[in-house]
Amino acid sequence: MKVPLLDLKAQYNSIREEVLKVTQEVYESQYFILGPKVEALEKEIAQYCSSKYAIGVSSGTDALIVSLMAADIGPGDSVITTPYTFFATAGSIARTGAVPVFVDIDPDTYNISTKGIENTLAAMTDDQRSKLKGIMPVHLYGQCADMDPILEIAEKHGLVVIEDAAQAIGAEYKGKRAGSIGDFGCFSFFPSKNLGAFGDGGIVTTNSDEFYEKLKILRVHGSYPKYFHKIIGGNFRLDALQAAIVSVKLKYLDGWTTARQENANRYRELFASAGLDNIKLPVESQKRHIYNQFVISVPEKRDDLRLFLQEAEIGTEVYYPVPLHLQECFSYLNCKKGDFPVSEHAASHTLALPIYPELTEDQQGYVVEKIKGFSF
Ligand SMILES: *Cc1c(COP(=O)(O)O)cnc(C)c1O
Repeated sequence: MKVPLLDLKAQYNSIREEVLKVTQEVYESQYFILGPKVEALEKEIAQYCSSKYAIGVSSGTDALIVSLMAADIGPGDSVITTPYTFFATAGSIARTGAVPVFVDIDPDTYNISTKGIENTLAAMTDDQRSKLKGIMPVHLYGQCADMDPILEIAEKHGLVVIEDAAQAIGAEYKGKRAGSIGDFGCFSFFPSKNLGAFGDGGIVTTNSDEFYEKLKILRVHGSYPKYFHKIIGGNFRLDALQAAIVSVKLKYLDGWTTARQENANRYRELFASAGLDNIKLPVESQKRHIYNQFVISVPEKRDDLRLFLQEAEIGTEVYYPVPLHLQECFSYLNCKKGDFPVSEHAASHTLALPIYPELTEDQQGYVVEKIKGFSF
């Protein structure tokens, strides 16, 4: 039996007619960049994320960069974030000229440790603390970071909070939607995200009138009014085709999320009845986990297990094999192995299993049966 990590064709088959219809509308209109389709999506996403505004942008990465720019973060500044995330999180901070300050993760949720943030702040000199401008928590795998303590710390030290919610559209923290909690919420429409486009795309949510106006101007090279530039922005525009497709998919997102959650529950039952209690399953610390990934942690031989499953035609992935503080490009930060042990442990022991909505009961049974057959 074949079990891919993700099956986007199955999803496309279920919405093909609608997608073809709206893309044809875009072709007929010949309105390709920003415009009515993008504005419509912005209204829908703002509502879905319970945020006042949403601004469509060119990717999740650009959502992070343009948010940092809107918060005036750049050379001489620093931003606290996690080393256990997709590269774009810390990459965006560095791209603005600011310095990422890593804080280790919580071993249960893989999200940034709030105790760790407090300790890092406490260990900073006055000079270091004066450079610190923001915190960028990541809602990893579809579950929100522990936002209350983060907001408290941010308030106390005058820091902006930029949520990297690329994996967490629709996730909730104490009844609040991801992206509506901090100053900015950054989402990605990369095809493998829960709400994926047919190419690159992203969106920023905010509740601030001031940030909203600034984001809109930064998105078009800082041009306002047209061809007058008080600030330097970039080309961070979303195109109409992607917006139209994402709008169609948004209507199905809650149904897909429910299917992912049901699959997660089924894995829990299957792992329990297989007696696989040496494998750590995702810990649900928040009520609405949207399971962009279902990530297990194994005691040892993670890479062997991955190969074993690959031979059984089961797709898995390692998110992420090298924590960011050990990436070559960040060697100037002078971090070394052992600095963030929880992230390093996760990087070498975790494995993402297929969790996509169209996954069948039989396929899940097969995955767990194969894992049971592996000798750890
Ligand atoms: C996907 C992702 C991004 C970047 O999104 P792109 O649309 O690929 O630029 C940023 N952060 C995290 C945590 C992601 O998973």
